[in-house]
Amino acid sequence: MTKLNLDSILPLTCTRIGTCCHGNQVLVNPWELYFISKEKKMTSKQFRDLYCDLGGTRLKFNGDKDKWGKKACSQYIDNFGCSVHLGRPLACRLFPLGRQIQNSEVNYIHEGDSFPCLDGCSEVLNLPKLSVGEYLEGQLTKAHEAAQDAYLEVMQNLADIGFEFLLDSGLAESGDIKTLQMWRVMSIEEPELLVKRIGSEWMNCLLIPEIKMKTNKPISFIEKHNELLQLKIQDRFSTIQTMQGFHEASIVVMGLAIHLARSMGANPKSLTEHWIETAKGFGAKG
Ligand code: SF4
Ligand code: SF4
Repeated sequence: MTKLNLDSILPLTCTRIGTCCHGNQVLVNPWELYFISKEKKMTSKQFRDLYCDLGGTRLKFNGDKDKWGKKACSQYIDNFGCSVHLGRPLACRLFPLGRQIQNSEVNYIHEGDSFPCLDGCSEVLNLPKLSVGEYLEGQLTKAHEAAQDAYLEVMQNLADIGFEFLLDSGLAESGDIKTLQMWRVMSIEEPELLVKRIGSEWMNCLLIPEIKMKTNKPISFIEKHNELLQLKIQDRFSTIQTMQGFHEASIVVMGLAIHLARSMGANPKSLTEHWIETAKGFGAKG
């Protein structure tokens, strides 16, 4: 992996050949799903059901194959390019760069030692070079980066509630081991199984919330989304009185946190192991 700074100069002018729109992985967080669906002139539900897999968190790559046998993104049109260019997700805006947050510090990176575009688009060497900062500005990444950061907070809010149901309810003290075991299972099971386990009502609230927006500002959308999730959790679980009830509530909310983490490219397994270790530090077992 190569770490870059905003002044790093690279052959970042895209050839527009579409190499990276084939055989790739593009994840979408719920705001990106909303944004791209608007560009496609359909509802988020229609877009998710038609064009996403991995439990609604990734664009399908089920189009025609390129000369290397790699399938095109479902949004790619031959001899035209991206059909949702203005609504494309952060991963597409950043490519060939990636964005990594370590200890609250944002780094831009690219995979390997050599510049990724050279693989299928060596023509980039004949196009103008750009600094990383100039590239990000041209790709209008700001709103999408802000959305990613805001959803990281929503994810942590959900995980915190999952902790509360386990640690503050008496459930962990009762000797329960099933809850942490189930957190672990959810972190490694197929996303579609997790979706089934949590149920479509919760998953719809996570991925395709009913939020009407006059603007495309992600932060207002995500604030409303966070509120909606919190209200639904309160509404559904505030009257629980049994240990089984707290167990089930912790599973649902943690399942949502895991799925949201997946939609942002986090590794569900290592993140959940970290949460499990934290819970164990407070006396939970499993
Ligand atoms: S691989 Fe690089 S140069 Fe080629 S289409 Fe993708 S971003 Fe553009
Ligand atoms: S959304 Fe558009 S830019 Fe992104 S991979 Fe698909 S076709 Fe390419």
